[in-house]
Amino acid sequence: MPAANQRSFDVVVVGGGAVGENLADRAVQGGLSAVVIEGELVGGACSYWACMPSKALLRPGAASAAARAVPGAGEVPGAIDVEATFDSRTAFTSNWDDSSQVEWLENAEIELIRGSARITGPREVEVRRGIKQTGLEDDDDEVVTVKARVAVALCTGSLPTIPPIEGLVESRPWTSAEATATSDVPDDLLIIGGGVIACEMATAFADLGSRVHLVVRGGGLLSNLDDFVGEAVADSLRDMGVDIRFNTEVSTCEQVEAPQQDLIVDDAASVSSIRTKAALTDGSTIVADQVLVATGREPHLPEIDGIDLQRDERGAVKLDDDMRAAGTDWLYVVGDASSKAHTTHQGKYQARIIGDLIARRASAADGEGSPDSEHADLRGDSFGAPQVVFTRPEVAHVGLTSDEASKRGLSVQSHDQDLGAIAGAALHAKGYSGRARFIVDTTSQTLIGATFVGPDTAEMLHSATIAIVGQVPLSKLWHAVPAYPTISEVWLRFLEGAGL
Ligand SMILES: Cc1cc2nc3c(=O)[nH]c(=O)nc-3n(C[C@H](O)[C@H](O)[C@H](O)COP(=O)(O)OP(=O)(O)OC[C@H]3O[C@@H](n4cnc5c(N)ncnc54)[C@H](O)[C@@H]3O)c2cc1C
Repeated sequence: MPAANQRSFDVVVVGGGAVGENLADRAVQGGLSAVVIEGELVGGACSYWACMPSKALLRPGAASAAARAVPGAGEVPGAIDVEATFDSRTAFTSNWDDSSQVEWLENAEIELIRGSARITGPREVEVRRGIKQTGLEDDDDEVVTVKARVAVALCTGSLPTIPPIEGLVESRPWTSAEATATSDVPDDLLIIGGGVIACEMATAFADLGSRVHLVVRGGGLLSNLDDFVGEAVADSLRDMGVDIRFNTEVSTCEQVEAPQQDLIVDDAASVSSIRTKAALTDGSTIVADQVLVATGREPHLPEIDGIDLQRDERGAVKLDDDMRAAGTDWLYVVGDASSKAHTTHQGKYQARIIGDLIARRASAADGEGSPDSEHADLRGDSFGAPQVVFTRPEVAHVGLTSDEASKRGLSVQSHDQDLGAIAGAALHAKGYSGRARFIVDTTSQTLIGATFVGPDTAEMLHSATIAIVGQVPLSKLWHAVPAYPTISEVWLRFLEGAGL
């Protein structure tokens, strides 16, 4: 029989990823006690299976391509050092050891309970102790009931969706978690999907030496952004040797034996000795050593019993404007789990606001209060939310695309600029090619969207985020002088084009 015991805290945070850590920290800074319940590694996806390892896998290819584009930088080999790349990735994940993040929690005076949580009633969470990855044999059967005096925050992240393709599960596909943790380079890698993860992983594995096949249901890549973005990334992936099949889907997968000389030791994150023959809807087939599914992610909520929650048409927990489950005054859903954030930085932003809000509401006589300022954007659909796609060329976007702006009925003007024509870009890399698009709200004469596609554009993004969030009028932006000769001089060209 499991041993039972009880604990109570002001705030119970389920999920110790970047979002849960930040929310708990802000609640503690606001004078409350907090516990984080984590079933795998403290730090969550970003640290071990997403942002950090993926960017570590992508950086060597980006750096070596950048050096090769600079005359006089010396002879830079085309192929990257695969072993050193995997070593660097492993170092960035601390070899999947979360001790430093556990220490951070201790220093922040946040208690940690390792185990898998489920909601069992109002302000009540049941935890089965243990770590999913390694198992804690001593504690495995111990069940702890944790009560929240003030609030429970579900920061439980998201999970990849696996499309219902006949034979796919049997072919043991990777998701991004296995792809970012592997130390194998499949000869042929079939990636299903055309979004951010698919494009980044196609770039990384093409750099590592795989023949990458990208099967995309739609007619372009990165379809949430303006068409020119996906076109530039597709052109460059093709130049890297990636085989892209648009407007097609995998209809069935079948396992076939690998040729004898290709056999590779088989373990959890390694390439299988069995190859997969994928039949596509266009009648063609692809035989791959490994399939990677990158067809989207969905919120990952724990089991919820003992309370009735309002659900939306997709079955997701309905949230009010402050990320609180509709009809409750104690249950919050934040970060990827809320589906109102899809990046670490945006989830952490929500976490800071909600952590503060929970603390403020706890000290208010009526238990109420609103987010810290009129500017807080918790819906994730306002003009902030920047994103970088670490492909080659890099894609950096913030605010609205032209399509989104017209769907909202805004009166906008779109200004395109050729980044390659900027003096700083020509110096940055021989044959620099790139484009910027600025979307201006013609009523307020402010910027409401910006997209940069080109080598090393990621670091240019924050200036656009500030201009958008600060609602800086173009007439004022004109006085923000970009330094010569930098690629940022594109701002000057844009403002000149806008008539300033
Ligand atoms: C391949 C890839 C690359 C990415 N790259 C970037 C990037 O470059 N930049 C960026 O900003 N974003 C990136 N993202 C998105 C980013 O990883 C997520 O937005 C972020 O990790 C979400 O943080 P979170 O805390 O909400 O969820 P998570 O980090 O997933 O944390 C949730 C935690 O909850 C725990 N948990 C879940 N259920 C329970 C339960 N019942 N009991 C106890 N614990 C539980 C999980 O074990 C997990 O540790 C990337 C995503 C992927 C997949």
